[in-house]
Amino acid sequence: MTKFSDLQLDPRVLQAVADAGYETPTPIQAQAIPPALEGRDVLGIAQTGTGKTASFTLPMITRLANGRARARMPRSLVLAPTRELAAQVAENFDAYTKHLKLTKALLIGGVSFKEQDALIDRGVDVLIATPGRLLDHFERGKLLLTGVQIMVVDEADRMLDMGFIPDIERIFQLTPFTRQTLFFSATMAPEIERITNTFLSNPVRVEVARQATTSSTIEQKLMAFAPSRRDRAFAEKRALLRELIKSEGDGCSNAIIFCNRKMDVDVVAKSLKAHGFNAAPIHGDLEQSVRTKTLDAFREGELRLLVASDVAARGLDIPAVSHVFNFDVPSHAEDYVHRIGRTGRAGRQGKAFTISTPADDKYLGAIESLIKQPIPRGETPVIEFDDSPDRGEHRQPRSRHSSRDRDRDRSSRSDRAPRAEPVAAAAPEAEVAAAPRREESRREETRREEPRRDDRREPRRDDRRDRRRDEGPSVAGMGDHVPDFILRSFARAAAMETAEDAAE
Ligand code: AMP
Repeated sequence: MTKFSDLQLDPRVLQAVADAGYETPTPIQAQAIPPALEGRDVLGIAQTGTGKTASFTLPMITRLANGRARARMPRSLVLAPTRELAAQVAENFDAYTKHLKLTKALLIGGVSFKEQDALIDRGVDVLIATPGRLLDHFERGKLLLTGVQIMVVDEADRMLDMGFIPDIERIFQLTPFTRQTLFFSATMAPEIERITNTFLSNPVRVEVARQATTSSTIEQKLMAFAPSRRDRAFAEKRALLRELIKSEGDGCSNAIIFCNRKMDVDVVAKSLKAHGFNAAPIHGDLEQSVRTKTLDAFREGELRLLVASDVAARGLDIPAVSHVFNFDVPSHAEDYVHRIGRTGRAGRQGKAFTISTPADDKYLGAIESLIKQPIPRGETPVIEFDDSPDRGEHRQPRSRHSSRDRDRDRSSRSDRAPRAEPVAAAAPEAEVAAAPRREESRREETRREEPRRDDRREPRRDDRRDRRRDEGPSVAGMGDHVPDFILRSFARAAAMETAEDAAE
């Protein structure tokens, strides 16, 4: 078995690794560090939790250990898709450079340009950034990328999802042709393959733990249920979620609850809080300071339930999560693997519950064929739901899907035009008082979460077109060419609805 001391790392880096308590390199580290130290390009196909961050930071630090940064000309660059991931990489750098004198700057949205400019002006060895913020600095004339000797692209597949690929291409073009590139992605979509073929030079390909694998330390359960009425689906799912959490008792020490939509993240967190659970939301529309505070509280064990969107939670390093609850079945099969991978880490046992309704059949099929196994069906608990004349009664939601349910749900999914609906009966939960019209528009809001504007630059036209294609069925009667201003007006309406929900 390879030992860290076999890896030709700088002794000061080895000391920091020992201080971190690592005994042996993980497979991606053992395979990626030697070629990276030789200055070769590396294409790492690995998901989060494999130790991939150290697999690029340790050789980078060793290679940068001797030499000095010049004003405005960083010697290396790490690009990460979200602020949290960038901040996490920065923390890793701090830990591994503790016995060296290397400087770093973190360029992310939500932090003042002035502070960041001052660091860059002084000269940094390592610049860690989200692509949008980096290009903003570049365009303001504050930054030169011609001194970059090593460039890292982390979580490239998520960059693709978030529309960052044109930015990444541009950044590649602004750095010297002779740079070393370390490129990491959990999957190799054709677009990612194209980028690596264009910008990497004869890379060493290192692949660990295929994307489709789910850890054997995770007990998976699928909780299938059919809502009693379409306009109650959201509220009944929340009731079911509460029952699941309760039924796990103290065994559920902490959990991440995933929702597909940002606005649902807020409502689910608010609803859990209203029912006495210790819960808080995290998604891309929250202020950076709030996101950081929430995550810190979760890591410290002060917050038990973190309700999250995929983008916000992606790659976050939270070592001991006992449970993952998928409030929604993810519409991208790989997200299922990422989500449940938040538990059962480092040999610990974990549990992952997924709530599914008949409308999710298609997505479930894709997940099960990706992970090459059926998700074991759990027994859906009795839910207590008092939003009806049968108030307070225990009711067993139907757990088998009738074909009529399926058809009804499918037709509701493809019908994107907002529609007036009768007002709901009085509901005990404050947020359930939201009219079914809102419930309907939530269901229709199939758009995946996008980063905040300051984390992302205005996409190119072809990129916008691709994203629209990803957003699901086009608006009936408007053809494929929906003018942007119409899409914007939808987004505003959605934001207003979220604000209304939050106000209740
Ligand atoms: P990553 O995949 O980079 O997000 O790393 C996942 C977790 O593994 C982090 O908590 C690291 O601190 C930890 N880690 C990285 N390398 C090692 C190692 N060689 N031994 C033990 N833990 C490690």
